[in-house]
Amino acid sequence: MIVLRSAEEVRDELRRARRAGATIGFVPTMGFLHAGHVSLIERAAQECDLVVVSVFVNPLQFSATEDLDHYPRDPERDAVAVSTGGADVLFLPSVDEMYGDGTLTTVTVEGVTRMMEGAARPTHFAGVATVVAKLFSIVGESRAYFGEKDYQQLVVVRRMAADLSMPVTVIGCPIVREPDGLALSSRNVYLSPDQREAAPVLLRALRAGAALVTAGESDPATVRAAMTEVVAAEPRGVLDYAEVAAPETLEPPDTIKGEVRLLIAARFGTTRLLDNLAATPPLPVPGR
Ligand code: AMP
Repeated sequence: MIVLRSAEEVRDELRRARRAGATIGFVPTMGFLHAGHVSLIERAAQECDLVVVSVFVNPLQFSATEDLDHYPRDPERDAVAVSTGGADVLFLPSVDEMYGDGTLTTVTVEGVTRMMEGAARPTHFAGVATVVAKLFSIVGESRAYFGEKDYQQLVVVRRMAADLSMPVTVIGCPIVREPDGLALSSRNVYLSPDQREAAPVLLRALRAGAALVTAGESDPATVRAAMTEVVAAEPRGVLDYAEVAAPETLEPPDTIKGEVRLLIAARFGTTRLLDNLAATPPLPVPGR
């Protein structure tokens, strides 16, 4: 594995690889890598000839009140995880390399950024879309692997790549979880032991909602209420939202007719955690 710090070096390296016929896989991350990130790298390594992983804590996607300065970092451990996962290139740009004296150009995705994380963090997705557009522009034609863990982000990035005709296929990968159901996240290190014990309530709430959908409940309000009730029974967690959404537009359906995505966010102390789950209604019985 080689470590590159400039966009120019990455372009040169990938130009050489493409000339030799290699397909490129790309995994963008903010570092402090865990088994969830490694699953994306391994999948990319299975499906592509050369894999690039970027580690860049993007200031543009944090608001002034968020945890940019304290975001956890461990460059040495990250390099080991990237290499063990089977990547060939670790791209470690500095803030200066990415933004120089600032940027006058940002990428804004409408519609799918209006609700949930977009409502809670108004500048967040413009920051995400802008940095991912820049990274896609540096890496070029490739398959890019994103976790379903950040489901709304996956939808936003997929839409951006399609709308702007980027030569990148965006691939969503399953959520990797702890044995008790908590989705792995770099932010889990912020949890106290007590909060960590409470956090699996997120998946329990999603499962309660999904069980209703699977049993034929078609009213999203009933499903939302069931998820809300599960979180309300855990005093260490404060619910931010529990939503039922169409998988691609993220709009709330009037009635649940096909597959939906259940999405949840809650705070444990000052740490905000996200999770989501697909839910499918039963097949209609013919003749009824
Ligand atoms: P981050 O470093 O938090 O920006 O995440 C980088 C990528 O890893 C994103 O595409 C995330 O959705 C993905 N990711 C984070 N946690 C998980 C997880 N538990 N399972 C699968 N993918 C994940």
